[in-house]
Amino acid sequence: MADCLFCKIAAGDIPSNKLFEDDDILAFYDIDPKAPVHFLVIPKRHIASAAALTEADAALLGHIYATIAALCRRLGVGEGGYRVVTNVGEDGGQSVAHLHFHVLAGRSMKWPPG
Ligand code: 5GP
Ligand code: ZN
Repeated sequence: MADCLFCKIAAGDIPSNKLFEDDDILAFYDIDPKAPVHFLVIPKRHIASAAALTEADAALLGHIYATIAALCRRLGVGEGGYRVVTNVGEDGGQSVAHLHFHVLAGRSMKWPPG
């Protein structure tokens, strides 16, 4: 999508600090980290948010979560645990309208989130 920040990052038009990339997804560090480890995982295809997902995206979501688990193991936070968050819409706190999963780790998380 022409005016989408994360489409531009996925295309490499805007640089990012990448952790993992394949044909379908990209994982990169958040520019404004909220935990000692904070990265984002996005589909390269533009999907506005989790609210736009369909049954046809099941394999994509499995791939995203399996990749998150592998990256957390690689970063040494797989055993201690981590949090995966996807904000949806205005009340959900979504500021970039391209589906992304926050992965936060390296400190003890509070519940419920603010
Ligand atoms: P949201 O608020 O939509 O759930 O999350 C958007 C996230 O994208 C925020 O945590 C923000 O710090 C991150 N972000 C915004 N712009 C950029 C950017 O240009 N590069 C990177 N790496 N992260 C960004
Ligand atoms: Zn996009």
